Amino acid sequence: MFSTLSGLCPRCKTQSSFELGGSLPVTFSTLIAMGRDGSQVRVPYDQVVVLICRHCDQGVAVIEEQMTGDHPSVARKGGGQVWWRGVHWWPFPSGVNDPAIPPGIQDTFDEACRAIAANCPRAGAVMARRTLEAIAADRGESNGTLVKRLEALTRNGQLPPTFADWAKEVRLVGNVGAHFDLQKDVSVKDAERLRDFIAELLNHLYTLPSKLAARRASANREDPPSR
Ligand SMILES: [Zn+2]
Repeated sequence: MFSTLSGLCPRCKTQSSFELGGSLPVTFSTLIAMGRDGSQVRVPYDQVVVLICRHCDQGVAVIEEQMTGDHPSVARKGGGQVWWRGVHWWPFPSGVNDPAIPPGIQDTFDEACRAIAANCPRAGAVMARRTLEAIAADRGESNGTLVKRLEALTRNGQLPPTFADWAKEVRLVGNVGAHFDLQKDVSVKDAERLRDFIAELLNHLYTLPSKLAARRASANREDPPSR
């Protein structure tokens, strides 16, 4: 019945399972169903549910839309299985959060994640592109077009070739998000792929090196003094 019973908890950022805390209808169809006690019950088109994370024991609020087959039930487009699709989450799911990431970059990336979580893929793609600009500037490339800056980062080895290809994609989809074009648009899937890529990139450029440095520092402290 509920679409989100396991997954990444946006509070504790852990892969977890959830139990249903409760649900309330938000909008209603004109259909009336028979309740267990024989009373008449209005059938909701969307509802808010609270899911309790089994890891951190805190609640996550989700707005869910009733689907019939591949379409929202409200559209009344043919039959199929009835299920609930999560549309909005609170707290917003975010990609990464680490003190090693410079605040200006984290802030821009958080905005991209919030936009994508709120079903605003074009705005999310533009903010993903802006995150790349922030990363390039932090790595000493703040002049020229983003293409040139990404090329420079690839040349000096800061952006490995696989990441460089993806970075081009972020730039292009970001451009599509920023400019109106009847032929091209940004889907939620496109924006989510950009978000996941940037999360990987931030992990590679900031989080992993900082963890490695911390591990080395603690290993050095634990080493017995040499004679
Ligand atoms: Zn949790």
